Amino acid sequence: MAGTAEKRLVAFEHVSKMFSTGTLALSDIHFTIQEGEFVSFLGPSGCGKSTALRMVAGLAVPTTGLVTVNGKTPKQLVRESNDIAFVFQDANLLPWRTVLDNVVLPMELRGGSRKEHKETALHALEMVGLKDHMKAHPRQLSGGMKMRVSIARALAAKPKLLLMDEPFAALDEITRQSLQMELLDIWQKEKMTVLFVTHNVYEAVFLSSKIVVMSARPGRVSSNIDVDLPYPRELGMRTTPKFSE
Ligand code: ADP
Ligand code: MG
Repeated sequence: MAGTAEKRLVAFEHVSKMFSTGTLALSDIHFTIQEGEFVSFLGPSGCGKSTALRMVAGLAVPTTGLVTVNGKTPKQLVRESNDIAFVFQDANLLPWRTVLDNVVLPMELRGGSRKEHKETALHALEMVGLKDHMKAHPRQLSGGMKMRVSIARALAAKPKLLLMDEPFAALDEITRQSLQMELLDIWQKEKMTVLFVTHNVYEAVFLSSKIVVMSARPGRVSSNIDVDLPYPRELGMRTTPKFSE
């Protein structure tokens, strides 16, 4: 980003992925992501977006090539630190736990003081506007609220890197817009790096400082193009982005 010293956080070095079924999900993906960027992986269904994101979390490994986060393999990093948080497309909450205890869970697994975890969780719930629902159970919440809890849970871990796989895809338009605004706000306040998967071009253009465009046919064509977008952008912009003017 302009005006700040750039530090490379994520690197994909000539990464390909062939599943055992014979599907070539990624072909020679090569790009880097600087600290503090909001990067969208944009492309049609099946082009390998989730596979690429899962590689950053250490949940998938390249067949050839290398993915590094902070110079380390993601598996090393996930084992050693709490620097990466993942928000999946469905909220993945534990139904028997309250909203608060769902947000506390990742911190609880790391050990430490319950009181501190609770304070951190409440702060995160406040950020997504759900502090008043801390005692509710997931079944009492709407889809959008569950997604907010899932986002709060990821943010409470104070990740350096937030990975989100189509987190708003199943939500109605109003909820999606309000969560997009909140996410941009939190991203700017917390100065984290966000990797965001979407097949929605408007969402990618609205949210991102950089877009990695992925091709539907990874086996046949060169599969990624970086688009750098001007930042900072006015928060509060609600109009549809224009592509040519
Ligand atoms: P996207 O998230 O862009 O929709 P994915 O990364 O989920 O794409 O999948 C890319 C391709 O790899 C698709 O053809 C999908 O069917 C295939 N694929 C994904 N995961 C697996 C897997 N575990 N085993 C076999 N094929 C897979
Ligand atoms: Mg996907």
